[in-house]
Parts: sequence; C-alpha cells; structure tokens
Amino acid sequence: MTHDLIVIGSGILGLATAFLAHKQGQSVHVIEAEAAPVHSSIMNFGHACFTGQADLIQPVADRARRGWLQAAQDTGLWAAQSGTWIPAVTELEMQVLREFAAHRGEADVTLVGPGEIRDALANPDLEAVGGAHLPRDMRVNPREAAPRLVAWLASQGVTFTWNTRVTAVSDGRVDTVRGEYSARRVIACPGDQLRGLFPRIAEGNGVRVCTLAMALLTRPGRIPVETALLTGTSLARYDGFAAMPSVPQLRDELASREPELVAMVANLMATGIPNGLLVGDSHAYSLSPEPFIDEALAEVLIERASYYFGLGEPVVRQRWLGHYADSAERNLVLVHPDDSTTVAVVTSGIGMTLSFGIAELALSGQVVEGF
Ligand SMILES: Cc1cc2nc3c(=O)[nH]c(=O)nc-3n(C[C@H](O)[C@H](O)[C@H](O)COP(=O)(O)OP(=O)(O)OC[C@H]3O[C@@H](n4cnc5c(N)ncnc54)[C@H](O)[C@@H]3O)c2cc1C
Repeated sequence: MTHDLIVIGSGILGLATAFLAHKQGQSVHVIEAEAAPVHSSIMNFGHACFTGQADLIQPVADRARRGWLQAAQDTGLWAAQSGTWIPAVTELEMQVLREFAAHRGEADVTLVGPGEIRDALANPDLEAVGGAHLPRDMRVNPREAAPRLVAWLASQGVTFTWNTRVTAVSDGRVDTVRGEYSARRVIACPGDQLRGLFPRIAEGNGVRVCTLAMALLTRPGRIPVETALLTGTSLARYDGFAAMPSVPQLRDELASREPELVAMVANLMATGIPNGLLVGDSHAYSLSPEPFIDEALAEVLIERASYYFGLGEPVVRQRWLGHYADSAERNLVLVHPDDSTTVAVVTSGIGMTLSFGIAELALSGQVVEGF
C-alpha cells in the first residue's frame, strides 16, 4: 500500500510529525530501525522548556506547546502544565532572572522570594536569595510519551514497520533492509543517526553526537512528580536566558564558584517522573562517542542536584549516557533534498520541547529564521 506520508524514525520528532499528519487526514507509515523508541526521546528529562528558548523561536515554541496539549488530550499521555522553578543561589543569578522577567513580562516569568522557592523544592534549608517560576513550561514523562504516541497512532490506523533500517531515500521512494516502500512525501527524522542516511547533510551542517551523563535517583514523597528545576548553569546555556546582559558576568561567577560543572559543560537540572528524580547533565561532543560514564563527573552532578532538594544521601537507581544530535552551527537542520523529501533533525538538546512545533514546520514546508 502506498501512503501519503512515510516518516523515518519513531523518536519524538517522527512521532509528532506522524501525529499532526494523521490529524490532517493523511495516511501515514512510520519506519523505524529499532523494535521500539529507545534513543534520545526516552533518555531525557521530559522538560518542555518553552520559555528559555530564544525570542525568535517563541512562535514555534507556542505551536509545540499546543501540540503537546493536543497529544495529551488525544492519547492520554501525561503532560503537566506545572512550569519550571529556578532558584537563585547568588545575587547575580537573581539579577539575570530579574532581567529576564523584565524582558519577557509577568505572564512568562514570575519572580519569587526565598520562602516560595524553598517551598517549591520542598527544601527549607536551601540557601536561596530568591528565584523564578516559568508557568508556561511543561513536563512530560520521557519513558511514557513516545510509547503512548505509538500505541495511539497504531490504534488510529497509522502503519508502523519496526526493525527495519532505511538505507536510501529519494523522490518518494524509500529503500530499506527489507525492501522498498513509496509515498507522496517522506519526512526523515533520524536524530543523531543522520550521518548514516544523509552523510552530506550531516557533514554540511556540522552534525555530531552530544553525550550526557544522567542518573535516576529515588524521589522522596515530599518532592512532587511534576517538579522541574533549572539552575545557574541553565541560565548560562539556554538561548533565551543567555541573551540577558548580566549573563557574561554570571559565566565568570560560575567559572570560579562551580569549576567542575563548568569543565563538564553542565546544565545542572532535575525533573520528577513517577519512579524517581532525573538528574544531570554533562555535555561532550564527538562523531563517535565512547560509551563510558566517568564516575567522578557523575557524582558531582548527583551531589549538586541533591543540594537543591536537600537530599542528604541520594539513592541512585539507574545511570545512563544519553545522546542526541548536536551542531555548533545551528539548533535545527530542516532541509529538502528533493521535492518529496524533508529531513528534520534538532541539533541541540531541545527536541522534546520543540518537537510538535518543528513537526508543523516540516509538514508545512515553512522556513523560520533564527534557529
Ligand atoms: C540526557 C538528555 C537530556 C535531554 N533533555 C531534554 C529536555 O529536557 N528537553 C528537551 O527539549 N530535549 C531534551 N533532550 C533532547 C531530546 O531528547 C532530543 O532532541 C529529541 O529526543 C530528539 O528526538 P528525535 O526524534 O529527533 O531523535 P531520536 O529520539 O533519537 O529518534 C530518532 C529515531 O530514528 C531512528 N532512525 C535513525 N536512522 C534510521 C534509519 N536509517 N532507518 C530507520 N530508523 C532510523 C532511530 O532508531 C530513532 O528511533 C535531551 C536529550 C538527552 C539525551
């Protein structure tokens, strides 16, 4: 059977694309090399950090937010509109939050005092000078979202071909290790395996693999499951915060206050899921990363994250080395190698956040400057 659309990849970007195309009434066929979604889209924090993205891509973030809400409504996947908490543990962190609040306005950024941030993190001993809440941000469970989408799409008649690697794509023809398929349009969402399918596009956009040390801790009952924590390193990292005037000074402060975190290019953050507290992460870049997690580095992340929640003796239940597609040149590769083919890869750690927004761009062919 020939479909309107073949989607390559059952990560969150492929599934968001399949979801929106199905809602538009298209017949959709998803082809996936693995037997289930097991790559970046289940390895992450499930943090939909709309507010921290650059001003220019806020319209895409808004579409992504609507997409997540629609998907939650249709499929029953868990999506909490609980926002993000950012404690300021120094005056300079608070200054960046004040600048961001003044820039974005109260609907996006609510400044809070030390008491409120301590309550939010259920840690009365946290030495915070204040903080902020970003109410538009959302939480999903990365271990649940993709499987839920797969199950719902399959129940709605979307075709899934698992265990089948695509080897070539052109003009609506898709060659796989099991034979050939065709469709009116093909949207390839291969994540950090872009190089295996479109090596020239990967090389032309400087696409490499980012690896991240992650851990799942036992989450004490006092910490709500929908918790999302960003910290000073996040303010220095996400494009929206990083555009604030005091961020260069904050980077200097972090370099002397938290040299280990800065050396590992950390974005110290944490989110709750039903079976624990996800904490991380470091960043290292390579075309072919080694699989090893440096224990000393992982311990620093766990110790620092535990500080924010007052976890005296954190219990580590799982560790993993996450990976996603990255490029030093851009946050998104969205190209059309021929009239029937679109390639979409998020090349920064924001693919969960923007998935449904980027899927909409891939389907519409619209170009957005600023990624
Ligand atoms: C530790 C960690 C923390 C993160 N935290 C966040 C966060 O808090 N918020 C956020 O927004 N983002 C976060 N990210 C980034 C986010 O997870 C990714 O950007 C996103 O999951 C990418 O989705 P994807 O669908 O493009 O890729 P993937 O999930 O990797 O899916 C790609 C799929 O394509 C398949 N595939 C590849 N090549 C072929 C082929 N030739 N034939 C068939 N199938 C193929 C693969 O098997 C895979 O299933 C994090 C990532 C990690 C690793």
